[in-house]
This record gives sequence, structure tokens and C-alpha cells, in this order.
Amino acid sequence: MDFSSKKAVQRQLAGEGLRPKKGLGQNFLTDESVLFDIVSAAELTKDSCVLEIGPGMGVLTRELAKKAGSVVAVELDTTILPVLEKNLSEFNNVTIINQDILKVDLDKLFDDHFGDRSVKVIANLPYYITTPIIMKLLEHHRITSIVVMIQREVARRLSAKAGSKDFGAITLAVDYRAVAEPVRDVPPEAFMPAPKVWSSVIRLSLREEPPVTVLNEKHFFDLVKGAFSQRRKTFVNSVGSYGALETNKEAVKAILEKLNIPETIRGEALDIEAYAKISNEMVKMQKQSG
Ligand code: SAM
Repeated sequence: MDFSSKKAVQRQLAGEGLRPKKGLGQNFLTDESVLFDIVSAAELTKDSCVLEIGPGMGVLTRELAKKAGSVVAVELDTTILPVLEKNLSEFNNVTIINQDILKVDLDKLFDDHFGDRSVKVIANLPYYITTPIIMKLLEHHRITSIVVMIQREVARRLSAKAGSKDFGAITLAVDYRAVAEPVRDVPPEAFMPAPKVWSSVIRLSLREEPPVTVLNEKHFFDLVKGAFSQRRKTFVNSVGSYGALETNKEAVKAILEKLNIPETIRGEALDIEAYAKISNEMVKMQKQSG
């Protein structure tokens, strides 16, 4: 049976009197080659435990259920559940949970469904909440990899190199927890309805240890946020006036000088090692003066 063509999507929605909900980011995937590339990037085996976010009508869920041991799919839209349940009725290794992924207690969900096993996350994400979902997932040590379809522009930011225009706070936040690799770009026509922008599939392999040693993680992340809080300004000006860091321009200048970094540098020109060094120096200085 055909589940993933544009006609199939339209027919199934119409059968339940539904229309794609823009507000929930419902762009259904209708290109089989993309489905297969997502599944192959996730490197599933019959032992894999998978969390899928936003299964929609289940095109991707079906492929995951064929390859993985156990799949939990979290879908917010109650009205789509009859179609989803029908499309998954032949599989006994899928559990559907009708909740908002941002409100789900992932520790509990993983304990309840996967015991103490590691988890892979796979999703064609709803684009209106891409960043909060990714940030939530990166906090979880049970997750070993994340393969997601997101807006191409966001994907470029996640895997950007220091010095490029796409490099920003989210690049550093992701780099601290994971290695980001692009899988493929996807044109708007691969979805029903077509989104306004191109998409990309990206794989995040979670690190066992961060790539740098930081004395105070909260300070490190505040420094990253501060450095990009006013993009047009220099690092010294943005960081020196960022409230959460409780510092000033003179103190920031002194630290850059000590580390042989030019005081005119901008936040996007510094890599994760430089951020770690600056943060550690600031923490040490604050301890000495406090
Ligand atoms: N997986 C399907 C596919 O590839 O065709 C649908 C993907 S669609 C881009 C995103 C899905 O996420 C929709 O089914 C939408 O209802 C669901 N969704 C939106 N917000 C959500 C949330 N906060 N929690 C869980 N699912 C959500």
C-alpha cells in the first residue's frame, strides 16, 4: 500500500476530514528517497531503541518500526491519531504517546519504555520549535545520536566552522555536546504542503565527554550567549555589557590581552577552545576578586 505519495497523504487526511495544521509545523514527507536516507543515517539494528518526534501519519515511523527493536513516537496532534494508529496497526513494537515533546519527562519515558538502554532520536521536526527540541535532547546522556530534518539554514548553523557567517551561539552549544554532520539537503517539493524554505537532514552524534574542559558550565554558556547577544559589536563590547556575566569591558579586554587575542575580535571568529579558555580565566579572576 502507498503511504508516502502526495496523493496518499491527501487521501488519508481527507478520509478523516483533516487539513495539514500550519501552526503545528505539519509538512508531511512525500519523497521515499529522503525517508531511506534518514533511516540509513540512523544506522538502526533490531536492538535499537528509537524516540520519534512528530510521527504525523507515520510514514517515517513505519520504516523505523521495520528496522529498530522498539519505537516510541510522541505526537501532539490528537486529531491525526486515528490515521497514525491505522498506518501502524501491523507493528507491535511501536508505542504512540499523545503529548507535547517539550513537556515530556524524557528520563521517565526512557525508563518506562527502554529500561536502561541507550536511545536514538529520529524525526522530521516541526520547524517552529526546532531549537528548543534540539537543546532539550542534547541535555540527555541516554541519547547517543539524533538524526533530524530541520530548516537548511538552521542545519548550516549547527555544523558551521568558526569564522563563517553561520557560526553562532547554537553552533557552540551543539559542538560542546555533539559532533554535527550534514546528511543531505531536501527541496520544498519533497513535502505536502511544501514549506517555504529548503530543509536538511543532519546527524548529531553525542559526545561522551565535551571537547574542552570548562571550570563552570553555566558561565561558559552565559559567555557564549553574551558574545552573540549583539552581533554587530565586538566580543569585548557584547560580553562586557552582558548582565548575567557580571563583568565589564576593561576586565574582558585584560583577559583577551592575557590570552593573546586581539581586543577588536568578534564573537564569531573565536572557536570553542578559545571560549573555554576565556571562560576559565574569567571564572578564576572572579574567584580571586570575590
Ligand atoms: N513525521 C511526519 C512526516 O515526516 O511526514 C510528520 C512531520 S511534520 C514536519 C511534524 C510533526 O510534528 C507533525 O505531525 C506535528 O503534528 C508534530 N508536532 C508539532 N508540534 C509538536 C510537539 N510539540 N510535540 C510533538 N509533536 C509535535
